[in-house]
Amino acid sequence: MSPPPCASRRRKKIWAGTKASARTSSGNGRTTSSVFSTGDAAHPASPCCFGGLAAAAVARMIRPDRAWAAIAPVAHKVGNIEVMIVSDGVLNVPLSFSLPETPLSEAAALFKAHGMPEGGEPVQTNVVLVKTGNDTVLIDVGSGANFQPTAGKLQENLEAAGIAPDTITKVVFTHAHADHLWGVLDDFDDAERFPNASYVISAPEWDFWSNPATVETVPDWLKGMALGTARILKKIEDKVERRKAGDTVAPGLTYAATPGHTPGHMSVMIENGGQRLMIGGDVLANNAISFARPDWRIGSDFDRDRAAATRKSLLDQLAAGKIPLVGFHLAWPGLGMVERAGNAYRLVPL
Ligand SMILES: [Zn+2]
Repeated sequence: MSPPPCASRRRKKIWAGTKASARTSSGNGRTTSSVFSTGDAAHPASPCCFGGLAAAAVARMIRPDRAWAAIAPVAHKVGNIEVMIVSDGVLNVPLSFSLPETPLSEAAALFKAHGMPEGGEPVQTNVVLVKTGNDTVLIDVGSGANFQPTAGKLQENLEAAGIAPDTITKVVFTHAHADHLWGVLDDFDDAERFPNASYVISAPEWDFWSNPATVETVPDWLKGMALGTARILKKIEDKVERRKAGDTVAPGLTYAATPGHTPGHMSVMIENGGQRLMIGGDVLANNAISFARPDWRIGSDFDRDRAAATRKSLLDQLAAGKIPLVGFHLAWPGLGMVERAGNAYRLVPL
């Protein structure tokens, strides 16, 4: 289940006429909020989340062959709608954080059975770009520069593919965790990275993160993220549409309720010409666990029981309907078909 080496992926520019912007990711680690980081150019920001994992520990965990490098986008079509999967880099998440209630020996055995390292693999961040009607839509925007040093690469990868930030007309969020939302603002001057975009988020997701009481009620590992997310939502508030499940969020794109990972988590169904593609956000986040053991309780899920129920429901829907999936954290590029396998499921990469 290893991600294929970059060279094996065919670089394919799926639409032309976009010139790389002169504006680049500053990459200088400067921040405008102590919530995010205390890093600077010489001392990159420490990750503030995932159990307070220290930067040094992150560095140790990154295998050289897994460290972020430029990854060429992967193109896909849904009827006449053009889709491009673009990497924001990789995240390093301790297994003890992901599976706080499962003996790690069980996880190691499961990974081994799926041909994966016993400790699992670095977590991918597969952002989806969609050209539909007059819109160029990003579904999530990655984490920006201040989350983990191996992530926040979306803008560089977009520009390498000839997609200028000012050509993005809409950003649709699956949910408001840092690795999906924080890349919306520039780390240098807090400006919007996609200045011509409007934003869509689910109403319950907006309500949860915008509620000042949320930071008091979430677990410790989420408190910094809750403050950062609330601050960013406030910054973009004037351009945000709050939508509900079943709403068309762009031509051919419909919100589907998939709560549990966060209270207002949404997947996005892309449909055109009789073809479909489900952008599943973080509902199905690991190539082995999410499909073989969807019942396992996951540390990053806000409501673990509800998230497990949502996983099973989505797996059923995708398998029965033969609907392809893109999972944000699945092995690059996260695109595959869900099949039943005994009492559980498997992902067959496309
Ligand atoms: Zn995520």
